[in-house]
Amino acid sequence: MKFAIGVDCEGVACGVGSPGASLNSSRNLEFAKLQATREADAAARGLFEAGAEQVIVWDNHNGSLNLDYDLLDRRCDIALGVGFEHRWPGVDESFDGILFVGYHAMDNTIDGVMCHSFSSATYQYLKVNGVEVGEMEIDAAVAGEMGVPPIFTSSDDRAVAEASEFFSGIETVTTKVAKGWNAAVSKHPERVLDEIFEGAQRAVQNRKSMKAFKFESPIEFEIRYKRLESAQSASRGYKAGERLDPYTVRHRFERITDYY
Ligand SMILES: [Zn+2]
Repeated sequence: MKFAIGVDCEGVACGVGSPGASLNSSRNLEFAKLQATREADAAARGLFEAGAEQVIVWDNHNGSLNLDYDLLDRRCDIALGVGFEHRWPGVDESFDGILFVGYHAMDNTIDGVMCHSFSSATYQYLKVNGVEVGEMEIDAAVAGEMGVPPIFTSSDDRAVAEASEFFSGIETVTTKVAKGWNAAVSKHPERVLDEIFEGAQRAVQNRKSMKAFKFESPIEFEIRYKRLESAQSASRGYKAGERLDPYTVRHRFERITDYY
């Protein structure tokens, strides 16, 4: 059995950012990175406990160099850095599941902690075939191209609700109750590790009831930008889409991996 854990930093226990700043310029950043490492490690240990032979930990927050790699269980393989041919580096059709640790709710989520879709500075929303989606849905669809199902999410209660809505039967652990962009009532960062360790094991046991996630093809991908210039560039040149209004651009393609 082989699994991959996508690791972001916003959804971890006691991660909230600070006013006027993304996580990357927040005083909370170093703690969030350390906690992302611990939560990824707890998920990996759970997977190995349940019989995994390979676990790839994919460090994918901003620039993909965030985790304390030597604190991860030594059985893990680690995907880090940028420039891979597709998201989920190292994963192929032989994998049994993907897990989301530290991900966050999509843009347009009321009071989701640091909720955004890829860039809070750039996008207002992303829609696939008319439905708003975020990073978990895009990443699940990329894995879905390889037939690999999402089996586990740990994050704030908003992201957990989102995952449960899109991915039927997914195992979840709530790390904190979201109270606003930079506000949460969090579980203790160590207590949550036990829950993630247990949750990852349940995910392996129940994975046969979880399905690979796919967007229906052809894909209509609508992006609403925060700034006019971004929409302008997206409607010109390579990967150009159709300008629907000053802020919105629509692309059409066959597979999600044609864009991501
Ligand atoms: Zn992130």
